Amino acid sequence: MSTLLEMSGVSVSFDGFKAINNLSFQIGEPELRAIIGPNGAGKTTFMDIITGKTRPDEGRVIYGERSYSLLKMSESDIARAGVGRKFQKPTVFEAQSVRENLAMALKNKRSPFDVLLYRKNSEGAARIESIAEEIGLTAELARPAGELSHGQKQWLEIGMLLAQAPRLLLVDEPAAGMTPAEREHTTDLLRRAAEKHAVVVVEHDMEFVRRLNCKVTVLHEGSVLAEGSLDHVTSDSQVIDVYLGR
Ligand code: ADP
Repeated sequence: MSTLLEMSGVSVSFDGFKAINNLSFQIGEPELRAIIGPNGAGKTTFMDIITGKTRPDEGRVIYGERSYSLLKMSESDIARAGVGRKFQKPTVFEAQSVRENLAMALKNKRSPFDVLLYRKNSEGAARIESIAEEIGLTAELARPAGELSHGQKQWLEIGMLLAQAPRLLLVDEPAAGMTPAEREHTTDLLRRAAEKHAVVVVEHDMEFVRRLNCKVTVLHEGSVLAEGSLDHVTSDSQVIDVYLGR
Protein backbone atom coordinates (compact mmCIF):
# COMPACT_ATOMS: atom_id res chain seq x y z
CA MET A 1 0.00 0.00 0.00
CA SER A 2 1.49 3.32 -1.05
CA THR A 3 0.49 6.70 0.35
CA LEU A 4 -2.11 8.42 -1.84
CA LEU A 5 -2.86 11.54 0.18
CA GLU A 6 -0.79 13.27 2.80
CA MET A 7 -1.82 16.34 4.74
CA SER A 8 0.60 18.06 7.04
CA GLY A 9 0.31 21.04 9.32
CA VAL A 10 -3.02 22.10 7.84
CA SER A 11 -4.99 24.86 9.55
CA VAL A 12 -8.20 26.66 8.59
CA SER A 13 -9.81 29.54 10.47
CA PHE A 14 -13.28 30.94 10.06
CA ASP A 15 -13.49 34.46 11.50
CA GLY A 16 -10.55 33.77 13.77
CA PHE A 17 -11.89 30.39 14.94
CA LYS A 18 -9.59 27.46 14.10
CA ALA A 19 -11.87 24.80 12.61
CA ILE A 20 -8.80 22.77 11.55
CA ASN A 21 -5.73 23.10 13.72
CA ASN A 22 -2.34 21.84 12.55
CA LEU A 23 -3.89 18.66 11.15
CA SER A 24 -1.74 15.88 9.73
CA PHE A 25 -3.26 12.87 8.01
CA GLN A 26 -2.25 10.12 5.60
CA ILE A 27 -4.18 7.53 3.65
CA GLY A 28 -2.84 4.75 1.47
CA GLU A 29 -4.13 3.25 -1.77
CA PRO A 30 -6.01 1.05 -1.31
CA GLU A 31 -7.20 1.63 2.22
CA LEU A 32 -10.43 1.95 4.19
CA ARG A 33 -10.46 4.61 6.92
CA ALA A 34 -13.22 5.74 9.25
CA ILE A 35 -13.23 9.30 10.59
CA ILE A 36 -15.14 9.88 13.80
CA GLY A 37 -15.43 12.81 16.17
CA PRO A 38 -18.07 14.87 17.93
CA ASN A 39 -20.09 17.58 16.17
CA GLY A 40 -17.91 20.52 15.27
CA ALA A 41 -14.73 18.38 15.32
CA GLY A 42 -13.87 19.52 11.80
CA LYS A 43 -14.89 16.43 9.79
CA THR A 44 -16.77 18.34 7.09
CA THR A 45 -14.08 20.99 6.81
CA PHE A 46 -11.47 18.22 6.53
CA MET A 47 -13.30 16.77 3.50
CA ASP A 48 -13.86 20.25 2.05
CA ILE A 49 -10.08 20.80 2.11
CA ILE A 50 -9.42 17.59 0.20
CA THR A 51 -11.98 18.43 -2.51
CA GLY A 52 -10.70 22.01 -2.81
CA LYS A 53 -13.92 23.59 -1.57
CA THR A 54 -12.12 25.14 1.40
CA ARG A 55 -8.56 26.46 1.12
CA PRO A 56 -6.36 26.11 4.21
CA ASP A 57 -4.52 29.10 5.65
CA GLU A 58 -1.41 26.98 6.03
CA GLY A 59 -0.09 23.47 5.51
CA ARG A 60 0.42 21.00 2.66
CA VAL A 61 -1.92 18.54 0.95
CA ILE A 62 0.01 16.22 -1.35
CA TYR A 63 -1.67 13.69 -3.64
CA GLY A 64 -0.59 10.82 -5.89
CA GLU A 65 2.78 9.42 -6.85
CA ARG A 66 3.78 12.72 -8.41
CA SER A 67 3.03 14.54 -5.17
CA TYR A 68 0.70 17.07 -6.73
CA SER A 69 -0.33 19.81 -4.34
CA LEU A 70 -4.13 19.78 -4.15
CA LEU A 71 -3.87 23.35 -2.90
CA LYS A 72 -2.78 24.43 -6.36
CA MET A 73 -5.65 22.65 -8.12
CA SER A 74 -9.23 23.79 -8.76
CA GLU A 75 -12.15 21.76 -7.41
CA SER A 76 -12.86 20.35 -10.86
CA ASP A 77 -9.19 19.43 -11.42
CA ILE A 78 -9.21 17.61 -8.07
CA ALA A 79 -12.34 15.71 -9.10
CA ARG A 80 -10.71 14.84 -12.44
CA ALA A 81 -7.65 13.59 -10.56
CA GLY A 82 -9.88 10.95 -8.99
CA VAL A 83 -11.24 12.45 -5.78
CA GLY A 84 -14.95 11.62 -5.50
CA ARG A 85 -17.28 12.70 -2.73
CA LYS A 86 -20.60 11.36 -1.63
CA PHE A 87 -22.70 13.63 0.55
CA GLN A 88 -25.13 12.30 3.12
CA LYS A 89 -28.23 12.92 1.03
CA PRO A 90 -28.29 10.88 -2.19
CA THR A 91 -28.37 12.95 -5.36
CA VAL A 92 -29.40 10.65 -8.18
CA PHE A 93 -31.49 11.52 -11.22
CA GLU A 94 -34.85 10.25 -10.03
CA ALA A 95 -36.64 10.11 -13.38
CA GLN A 96 -33.82 8.20 -15.04
CA SER A 97 -33.27 4.47 -14.69
CA VAL A 98 -30.45 3.00 -12.61
CA ARG A 99 -28.72 2.07 -15.89
CA GLU A 100 -29.02 5.64 -17.20
CA ASN A 101 -27.71 7.10 -13.95
CA LEU A 102 -24.67 4.82 -14.13
CA ALA A 103 -24.23 5.62 -17.83
CA MET A 104 -24.18 9.33 -17.09
CA ALA A 105 -21.62 8.85 -14.38
CA LEU A 106 -19.51 6.62 -16.60
CA LYS A 107 -19.40 9.30 -19.25
CA ASN A 108 -18.92 11.93 -16.58
CA LYS A 109 -22.06 13.68 -17.72
CA ARG A 110 -23.96 15.86 -15.38
CA SER A 111 -27.39 16.13 -17.00
CA PRO A 112 -30.18 13.72 -17.95
CA PHE A 113 -30.08 15.20 -21.46
CA ASP A 114 -26.76 13.47 -22.03
CA VAL A 115 -28.50 10.13 -21.65
CA LEU A 116 -29.96 10.64 -25.12
CA LEU A 117 -26.44 10.53 -26.46
CA TYR A 118 -25.70 7.47 -24.37
CA ARG A 119 -28.63 5.58 -25.86
CA LYS A 120 -27.07 5.83 -29.28
CA ASN A 121 -23.82 4.50 -27.98
CA SER A 122 -23.94 1.42 -25.84
CA GLU A 123 -20.20 1.22 -25.27
CA GLY A 124 -19.66 0.89 -21.56
CA ALA A 125 -22.67 -1.41 -21.13
CA ALA A 126 -20.48 -4.17 -19.73
CA ARG A 127 -18.91 -1.79 -17.25
CA ILE A 128 -22.38 -0.68 -16.14
CA GLU A 129 -23.40 -4.29 -15.58
CA SER A 130 -20.32 -4.92 -13.51
CA ILE A 131 -20.84 -1.82 -11.35
CA ALA A 132 -24.51 -2.75 -10.89
CA GLU A 133 -23.37 -6.15 -9.67
CA GLU A 134 -20.83 -4.56 -7.34
CA ILE A 135 -23.49 -2.34 -5.73
CA GLY A 136 -26.15 -5.07 -5.70
CA LEU A 137 -28.58 -3.36 -8.10
CA THR A 138 -28.48 -5.70 -11.09
CA ALA A 139 -32.19 -6.51 -10.70
CA GLU A 140 -33.03 -2.80 -10.58
CA LEU A 141 -31.14 -1.64 -13.68
CA ALA A 142 -34.29 -0.72 -15.61
CA ARG A 143 -36.10 0.92 -12.69
CA PRO A 144 -36.32 4.69 -12.34
CA ALA A 145 -33.95 5.74 -9.55
CA GLY A 146 -36.84 7.57 -7.88
CA GLU A 147 -38.45 4.21 -7.09
CA LEU A 148 -35.45 2.88 -5.18
CA SER A 149 -35.34 2.66 -1.39
CA HIS A 150 -33.18 5.16 0.49
CA GLY A 151 -30.45 2.55 0.88
CA GLN A 152 -30.53 1.59 -2.80
CA LYS A 153 -30.21 5.25 -3.80
CA GLN A 154 -27.14 5.52 -1.61
CA TRP A 155 -25.62 2.46 -3.30
CA LEU A 156 -26.46 3.84 -6.72
CA GLU A 157 -24.67 7.04 -5.86
CA ILE A 158 -21.64 5.09 -4.66
CA GLY A 159 -21.83 3.18 -7.96
CA MET A 160 -21.90 6.50 -9.84
CA LEU A 161 -18.73 7.52 -8.05
CA LEU A 162 -17.11 4.15 -8.81
CA ALA A 163 -18.01 4.64 -12.48
CA GLN A 164 -15.86 7.74 -12.55
CA ALA A 165 -12.74 5.68 -11.80
CA PRO A 166 -11.91 7.31 -8.49
CA ARG A 167 -8.71 6.89 -6.51
CA LEU A 168 -10.00 8.46 -3.30
CA LEU A 169 -13.65 8.26 -2.23
CA LEU A 170 -14.98 10.49 0.54
CA VAL A 171 -18.23 9.16 1.95
CA ASP A 172 -20.31 11.11 4.43
CA GLU A 173 -22.44 9.14 6.92
CA PRO A 174 -23.46 6.34 4.55
CA ALA A 175 -25.40 4.41 7.20
CA ALA A 176 -27.72 7.25 8.23
CA GLY A 177 -31.39 6.33 7.84
CA MET A 178 -30.67 2.75 6.72
CA THR A 179 -32.25 -0.48 7.89
CA PRO A 180 -29.93 -3.04 9.54
CA ALA A 181 -29.88 -5.12 6.34
CA GLU A 182 -29.04 -2.06 4.26
CA ARG A 183 -26.23 -1.18 6.65
CA GLU A 184 -24.75 -4.62 6.26
CA HIS A 185 -24.86 -4.35 2.49
CA THR A 186 -23.27 -0.88 2.70
CA THR A 187 -20.46 -2.23 4.87
CA ASP A 188 -19.74 -4.96 2.32
CA LEU A 189 -19.88 -2.48 -0.53
CA LEU A 190 -17.45 -0.04 1.08
CA ARG A 191 -15.08 -2.81 2.14
CA ARG A 192 -15.05 -4.13 -1.43
CA ALA A 193 -14.48 -0.64 -2.86
CA ALA A 194 -11.57 -0.23 -0.44
CA GLU A 195 -9.84 -3.27 -1.95
CA LYS A 196 -9.05 -1.08 -4.97
CA HIS A 197 -9.43 2.52 -3.84
CA ALA A 198 -8.72 4.74 -0.87
CA VAL A 199 -12.04 5.16 0.93
CA VAL A 200 -12.63 7.64 3.75
CA VAL A 201 -15.90 7.18 5.63
CA VAL A 202 -17.15 9.82 8.06
CA GLU A 203 -19.61 8.11 10.38
CA HIS A 204 -21.28 8.65 13.75
CA ASP A 205 -22.66 5.17 14.13
CA MET A 206 -20.05 3.21 16.12
CA GLU A 207 -21.63 -0.15 15.36
CA PHE A 208 -21.25 0.63 11.66
CA VAL A 209 -17.63 1.71 12.20
CA ARG A 210 -16.99 -1.53 14.06
CA ARG A 211 -18.29 -3.52 11.10
CA LEU A 212 -16.04 -1.61 8.70
CA ASN A 213 -13.21 -3.15 10.72
CA CYS A 214 -10.62 -0.60 9.65
CA LYS A 215 -8.22 2.00 11.05
CA VAL A 216 -10.08 4.86 12.73
CA THR A 217 -9.02 8.50 12.99
CA VAL A 218 -10.63 10.52 15.78
CA LEU A 219 -10.89 14.25 15.10
CA HIS A 220 -11.40 16.76 17.88
CA GLU A 221 -11.14 20.53 17.70
CA GLY A 222 -9.66 20.29 14.23
CA SER A 223 -6.80 17.93 15.13
CA VAL A 224 -6.22 14.18 15.25
CA LEU A 225 -6.89 13.09 18.82
CA ALA A 226 -6.26 9.38 18.34
CA GLU A 227 -5.71 6.88 15.53
CA GLY A 228 -5.76 3.10 15.34
CA SER A 229 -8.24 0.26 15.65
CA LEU A 230 -11.69 1.12 17.03
CA ASP A 231 -10.87 -0.77 20.22
CA HIS A 232 -7.63 1.16 20.55
CA VAL A 233 -9.17 4.62 20.07
CA THR A 234 -12.24 3.95 22.20
CA SER A 235 -10.07 2.87 25.11
CA ASP A 236 -8.04 6.11 24.89
CA SER A 237 -8.85 8.25 27.93
CA GLN A 238 -8.80 11.50 25.92
CA VAL A 239 -11.30 10.06 23.43
CA ILE A 240 -13.53 8.84 26.27
CA ASP A 241 -13.43 12.33 27.82
CA VAL A 242 -14.37 13.99 24.53
CA TYR A 243 -17.25 11.61 23.86
CA LEU A 244 -18.59 11.86 27.38
CA GLY A 245 -18.15 15.63 27.26
CA ARG A 246 -15.84 15.78 30.25
P1 ADP B 1 -18.08 18.50 11.86
O1 ADP B 1 -18.31 18.14 10.41
O2 ADP B 1 -17.10 17.59 12.53
O3 ADP B 1 -19.34 18.64 12.64
P2 ADP B 1 -17.28 21.08 10.77
O4 ADP B 1 -16.10 20.86 9.90
O5 ADP B 1 -18.60 21.26 10.10
O6 ADP B 1 -17.36 19.94 11.89
O7 ADP B 1 -17.04 22.38 11.64
C1 ADP B 1 -15.90 22.59 12.46
C2 ADP B 1 -16.05 23.92 13.16
O8 ADP B 1 -15.91 24.99 12.21
C3 ADP B 1 -17.41 24.11 13.82
O9 ADP B 1 -17.22 24.79 15.04
C4 ADP B 1 -18.17 24.96 12.82
O10 ADP B 1 -19.11 25.78 13.48
C5 ADP B 1 -17.06 25.80 12.19
N1 ADP B 1 -17.36 26.13 10.78
C6 ADP B 1 -17.41 25.26 9.76
N2 ADP B 1 -17.65 25.90 8.60
C7 ADP B 1 -17.74 27.21 8.90
C8 ADP B 1 -17.97 28.41 8.13
N3 ADP B 1 -18.14 28.36 6.81
N4 ADP B 1 -18.00 29.59 8.80
C9 ADP B 1 -17.79 29.65 10.12
N5 ADP B 1 -17.57 28.57 10.90
C10 ADP B 1 -17.54 27.37 10.30
